[in-house]
Amino acid sequence: MAEKKSKTNVAARSESKKRVQLCRYCGNKVEVILAVASNGKRKMKRLCCGV
Ligand SMILES: [Zn+2]
Repeated sequence: MAEKKSKTNVAARSESKKRVQLCRYCGNKVEVILAVASNGKRKMKRLCCGV
């Protein structure tokens, strides 16, 4: 039972990893980076088209 559950978890995880975000401006793959600001706040940054 537990094995089955973990298998499902891995499958779900890899599927969410596979999903790529596409830039809504140019349609290219968008690289999302996690930037930490000086005040310690974490921010998701998208690297594409300079936006
Ligand atoms: Zn773009």
